[in-house]
Amino acid sequence: MQTIYNHVIINNIEWSRQMKRTDVLSWDEYFMGLAHLSAKRSKDPSTQVGAVIVSDEHRVVSIGYNGFPNGCSDDEFPWDREGDFSCTKYPYVVHAELNAILNSKHDLRGCSIYVSLFPCNECAKAIIQSGIKRIVYESDKYATTDSTIASKRMLKAAGIELYQLPYCIDLKVEKHANE
Ligand code: ZN
Repeated sequence: MQTIYNHVIINNIEWSRQMKRTDVLSWDEYFMGLAHLSAKRSKDPSTQVGAVIVSDEHRVVSIGYNGFPNGCSDDEFPWDREGDFSCTKYPYVVHAELNAILNSKHDLRGCSIYVSLFPCNECAKAIIQSGIKRIVYESDKYATTDSTIASKRMLKAAGIELYQLPYCIDLKVEKHANE
């Protein structure tokens, strides 16, 4: 980044002052980026989802990703999507949004939740009951499914603000040797 200086006069002395950095992440980019970072912890082989709950003062109050409940080993419970219901992931997995809500020690009333995928109907119920007032999401790839249609019906009835980011965050975590 190019360093920019401006000149200010303080007590009749001219100072050359370095300007602040301007190429920083926006709040939306920052919180959705955190959601993607959290998603990278998920063991789900098909869909990694992350969620971040943020107060109206731009403070992160909770974070989560999709995974099995405590004590339910990733090595013992199935990640399959097809087959007998009890042999798929669906009865066991806790979605990112619900994990973020359950992980929180804070009152979530008035908060926003950033989530990389539009919440399902089960998470929508938990979001509404927690007092979260705004959902910021990226992908809506299951928009035509019964779950998402039911989710939107409840969220709209409850007056939850829905905002789809006009872009997707592509987060890459690279490790390099220490110097
Ligand atoms: Zn869900």
